[in-house]
Amino acid sequence: MPIPVASEAVARSRADACPGALSVHVAADGGLARVRLPGGVVSGAAMLALAAAAADLGRGDLELTSRANVQVRGLATGAELELGLRIAAVGLLPSASHERVRNLVASPLSGIDDAGVVDVSPLAPELDRQLCARPVLADLPGRFLFGLDDGRGDLGRLSPDLTAVARAVDRFEIHPGGFTVDRSQVVPVLLAAAEAFLSERESLRSGAASAEAAGGTSGGGAASGGASGEWRISELPDAGQGLLQRVARQFRGAPASGSAGEHSLPAPPPEPVGVIGQADGRAALVVLAPLGRLTVEQASFLARHAGVRGLRITPWRSVVLPDLIEVTSVAKQASALGLGIDEQSPWYRVSACTGRPGCAKALADVRADALSEVFNHGAPPHTVRWSGCERRCGRPHDVQIDLIATGNGYRRTENGTT
Ligand code: SF4
Repeated sequence: MPIPVASEAVARSRADACPGALSVHVAADGGLARVRLPGGVVSGAAMLALAAAAADLGRGDLELTSRANVQVRGLATGAELELGLRIAAVGLLPSASHERVRNLVASPLSGIDDAGVVDVSPLAPELDRQLCARPVLADLPGRFLFGLDDGRGDLGRLSPDLTAVARAVDRFEIHPGGFTVDRSQVVPVLLAAAEAFLSERESLRSGAASAEAAGGTSGGGAASGGASGEWRISELPDAGQGLLQRVARQFRGAPASGSAGEHSLPAPPPEPVGVIGQADGRAALVVLAPLGRLTVEQASFLARHAGVRGLRITPWRSVVLPDLIEVTSVAKQASALGLGIDEQSPWYRVSACTGRPGCAKALADVRADALSEVFNHGAPPHTVRWSGCERRCGRPHDVQIDLIATGNGYRRTENGTT
């Protein structure tokens, strides 16, 4: 299957450096391609294709991201074209022009357990289809994130730019903005707000350019419309409140009861792991990827156990296998392959950044050091984050112990205090 052409995607502004499947980031260990999985959903066939691509074209494993996408590292120059062909053949590249903006997270257990208000999983492909059908939205920044929360509040820590939170079977609250709409309006409202964001950003940049041409001082920052700012709604001067009020009026959104702020969202539940009972008598299994990476063998195993609903990658570097009948047996096999299957697993509490050799800024091979520590001492009692330098990229919010490479060992901080 041909790649559904990439000329516009490749021609887009390089100021937006978020990698895609076709526009790779050149990392210290080779090309890094990010494959978007809206809602984290991936079929068994697609997961097998990704695993094969990682083995044949990349470094041999798959990296799970904090937005429930998958990355292939270590690509040779030009290998992204072969990768594009392979993922297009399994439906993972529906639009080359929009491939980097299909950033959409959804409650991973929605429709699997009964903790949500309503199953939001059908909304994810609908939002993705309509996003790709609007040419103007190809200009969204690669960091712009949509969220579909089924009411359990599990997406709060990801701070999506726009989130629809289920409050009743047919009623969703839009954040930020704090107005409610019917289910049928969720996708049109989110896309209208995204388009309004692009318009507002363009106006700010035009205004800043005019001021500069007239001899003014634009300053170049987010609030002043500089080229490096406004990648997110929260970076607009009014944090997007104006545009969301306009969208609420356009769609006759009703004011939400209570506060309209982020604090009115439910507190995030603990990250799921292990066996989750389903209403139909079957069960789902949530497995943890060691330090956020799946070997080809682990990915292939998961793919073989994917059913009709496929697998769901979570933003917490785990994978949900829904609809299992022999869940105990599958869990044992997963554990034997090195995947975490319960809260006692070290991978429930230990995480690491890329480190050496993938990151040129790294002062240590943090992943090797973390693995060695776990191998020698087992699972720690606290949440631990290993970072290759002071930037601490991707550090989870709830980390208790930080180990930060100094070039001469590690600096240890506890709850942010040295
Ligand atoms: S924390 Fe430092 S070493 Fe780790 S990925 Fe970020 S820049 Fe690289």
